[in-house]
Amino acid sequence: MTMWVGTGGVGELVHDEQARVSALDHGFTVGDGIFETMKLVHGRVFLLSWHLERLHESARVMRIALPTNATLTSVVRRVAAANDCGALGRLRLTITAGVGPLGSSRNAVPPTVTCAATAMAPRLGSATLQYAGWPRNERSPLAGVKSTSYSENVLALAEATAAGASEALFLNTRDEICECTGANIFIVRDGVAFTPPATAGLLRGITRRFVLTLATADLDVREAVLTRSDLESADEVFLTSTFQEVRPVTRIGDHAFAEGPITAELAKRFAIQASSPSCWT
Ligand code: PMP
Repeated sequence: MTMWVGTGGVGELVHDEQARVSALDHGFTVGDGIFETMKLVHGRVFLLSWHLERLHESARVMRIALPTNATLTSVVRRVAAANDCGALGRLRLTITAGVGPLGSSRNAVPPTVTCAATAMAPRLGSATLQYAGWPRNERSPLAGVKSTSYSENVLALAEATAAGASEALFLNTRDEICECTGANIFIVRDGVAFTPPATAGLLRGITRRFVLTLATADLDVREAVLTRSDLESADEVFLTSTFQEVRPVTRIGDHAFAEGPITAELAKRFAIQASSPSCWT
């Protein structure tokens, strides 16, 4: 794989085996970084401007000085062009606080920037969920930040998959429905699709944002605070994420759900709207 490795706005394309980041990088030692994962289809990037917007929001909270959007766009395009990922690829842009001391303080250095892309197999079928064993802290400064500190997600997903589920679902400290380790959640009740608001402590998914734009006069899609009983009594449940797109959920713990018509309609609308050339860079 050919990837980008740089410091601030300066860097180079290299083979991943030649790519070098310092072992003292604060991303490596303390998880002090942010990232974006983007969908590539035949080398074109889906909703790049939305990903850059979210990256800027993460960078603002984490006080990481980003290279310009022109630089980031050029890095993304060059990595997309340098790797033939075919029909579906995953492009990841990672930006850390750079080389730092061996503790939590930082050095005043430019950020480390890496970008890589690999081919992916499309995901298949519906999802099953298990509740995570601890809450998402909606009061954490990292709530809503796409931080490289993903260890809580790694642990929760490992527990869920060991129990035979495909995803773990987090409640927050108020026992509201929050999100999964790599996806946002929607429920359908009486023909209306609801998803928790950002105040629940979730990552504002690019796909969630796109699905919220699919509402029409005859199909309401909106944000609402949701409880566990709202979820368990829902008519339909589905996940959204860059690679799962709109994916039905058929089980949460002991509760089974049918794959329903609103989920199918939103999946269809998603596919139609997402094929617009304006979504692709
Ligand atoms: N929540 C979390 C914690 C995630 O990691 C992701 C995947 N990036 C999502 C939600 C869904 O976001 P997106 O639609 O941007 O992939």
